[in-house]
Amino acid sequence: MLTDDELERYDRQIAIDGFGKEGQEKLKKARVFLAGAGGLGCTVSLYLAAAGVGTIRMVDPDAIELSNLNRQVLHWTEDIGRLKVDSAAAKLRRLNPNVKVEAIGQKITAASISSLTAGFDLLVDAMDNLPTRYLLNKVALERNIPFFHGAVYGFEGRVMTVLPRETACLRCVYRGDIPEEKTPVVGVTPAIIGCIQAAEVIKHIVGIGQLLTNKLLIYDGLTMKFTELKVKKNPDCEHCGQLVKDKK
Ligand SMILES: [Zn+2]
Repeated sequence: MLTDDELERYDRQIAIDGFGKEGQEKLKKARVFLAGAGGLGCTVSLYLAAAGVGTIRMVDPDAIELSNLNRQVLHWTEDIGRLKVDSAAAKLRRLNPNVKVEAIGQKITAASISSLTAGFDLLVDAMDNLPTRYLLNKVALERNIPFFHGAVYGFEGRVMTVLPRETACLRCVYRGDIPEEKTPVVGVTPAIIGCIQAAEVIKHIVGIGQLLTNKLLIYDGLTMKFTELKVKKNPDCEHCGQLVKDKK
């Protein structure tokens, strides 16, 4: 049940066709796992908290550096040196005290990912490296929970939503490993891409609209063009191919 405070706080979204109090209650019950508290993570968590997602678990091992502040907008000058998850959680709690924010300052590894994500309904990829994205993709497939991918580079960004066993997964689209390197990026890019990810998460939880499944949305901020690439589920995909075959 929603409290009077919640009914008032979310009044403008409850008014959306197909959303209603029922949609708001679904958001309140939702448990979202967010990998990363950087540029994408700040945007995604800000809009999920504002929308009233009940529980958000943020995981990121890093402390804030001066060079993060051009894009990681939940972290401010006085936060330099503080853990990103602690800084983000403090701001999100001030924005919306109804939301439970769990801050975990750990690295996501093959050994830790299973226990870190246990009990969560959706996984959001707000990472900056492919190896961790693959781990998240894999655990989402194993758990059969939706996975929301986002990535940024410079003025460019990409978004894709994965519904395990139904739609193409991240590994169907990306192969190999890209080495970790310092990524150039301007703050508006993760803001736009993170907002699209948050919109996908909200739509999925509420159960309205269409998702970015079997599609890779590519945003080019320099030409201000959005391009949708159709992607197909690969029956031989090393992450999801076998899962499908098992089901048949
Ligand atoms: Zn796949």
